[in-house]
Amino acid sequence: MRGIAILGSTGSIGRQAIEVLSLHPDRFAVTALTAHGNAALLFDQVRALRPRLAALTGVEDADVPDDLSFCQFLFGPRALEEVAARAEGQDVLAAVVGVAGLKAVMAARKAGKRVLLANKETLVAGGEMVMNACPPGTLLPVDSEHSAIFQCLQGAGPNRYEKILLTASGGPFRTWDREAVKNATVAQALGHPTWSMGAKITVDSASMFNKALEIIEAKWLFDARPEQIEVVVHPQSIVHSAVQFQDGAVIAQLGSPDMKVPILYAMSYPERLTTGAKPLDLFALGQLTFEKPDTEKFPAIGMAYQALSQGGAACCVLNAANEEACFAFLRREIPFGRIPEIVAEALQRHGHLPADHFMDIDRADALARECARGMLG
Ligand code: NAD
Ligand code: MG
Repeated sequence: MRGIAILGSTGSIGRQAIEVLSLHPDRFAVTALTAHGNAALLFDQVRALRPRLAALTGVEDADVPDDLSFCQFLFGPRALEEVAARAEGQDVLAAVVGVAGLKAVMAARKAGKRVLLANKETLVAGGEMVMNACPPGTLLPVDSEHSAIFQCLQGAGPNRYEKILLTASGGPFRTWDREAVKNATVAQALGHPTWSMGAKITVDSASMFNKALEIIEAKWLFDARPEQIEVVVHPQSIVHSAVQFQDGAVIAQLGSPDMKVPILYAMSYPERLTTGAKPLDLFALGQLTFEKPDTEKFPAIGMAYQALSQGGAACCVLNAANEEACFAFLRREIPFGRIPEIVAEALQRHGHLPADHFMDIDRADALARECARGMLG
């Protein structure tokens, strides 16, 4: 029996994690849950799963229903770290959105927990610091591409891979012309062709900043040099990524697009348990296609490589500016085409800051956000 705390349990990943672990009640017990704003859903989840600890991080107080007195409730943003550190059991699933997860992931590691990481922004912003806190086996990827790469590397033994083939669906604007993309609406950006996800990552997929974040995430998780990571657009989202070795062999992981597979793999690793995912039917698919990304239409990809080569806190700046721009777009304050312009400007102005201490990361994050906000009007 593994005890697991779910940070961000009311989100897309959090809800799917609950769905898939509920298929295996003999294997997993939920020890803690957190949500930012959706108190009603959090209360329902606590009622059903009976953790002893829960937090509402977006409010300083709330009326907790009387029948939930078996569970201690914490409030406010700091409660995320407290839950990460204090929850019973070995595992913490980081499924909150944005860099808000960074301190909680560090707190979980300080308390000796194993981190199952969906929250990629944490690794993008604090890569070196997070990896220094995570010896082998203590940080397992949940992001589907990184789970795929991790699965492809099982059994590779002492062989280093040559290259990571990081697949991307291309998002809803893959076939649009460049000018049209700049004026895409929120509804259009939220219409992802293959995955159903939270709003921020769906917009990131449309701008391809999601792939930019994933390039940086792959660098840290798999100790890759940037030139070893190649983005391959694969609109069917069946090949979740692949790894190429020096003998010419390429190992890929395939499956229907269903986050329950990588979520449960991280939880049950190295075992594989049933997920209820739809079996892959290659005959029904007929063909799988691959193409190069259009890096002019989607400047995000080039910015990821640029930030990696700048080093220091550049990736943190890219992430923070993108978070600000993405949410401003969702609030309909800026056109879609403004997102990469804002990130480019933040990188230009603040891309050379150091990232030696936690304070440096905080400062780079704050300066990038200030720069991005200044460009909203
Ligand atoms: P979501 O918006 O659906 O859910 C986010 C969760 O985090 C919610 O429970 C919300 O209450 C909580 N939250 C929001 N802001 C918070 C804050 N400031 N502090 C604490 N908690 C906060 O997002 P999601 O789609 O589930 O994505 C979660 C993370 O997983 C993201 O980092 C995303 O990039 C990553 N991810 C998601 C998918 C997917 O299929 N949804 C796939 C791969 C990776
Ligand atoms: Mg992904």
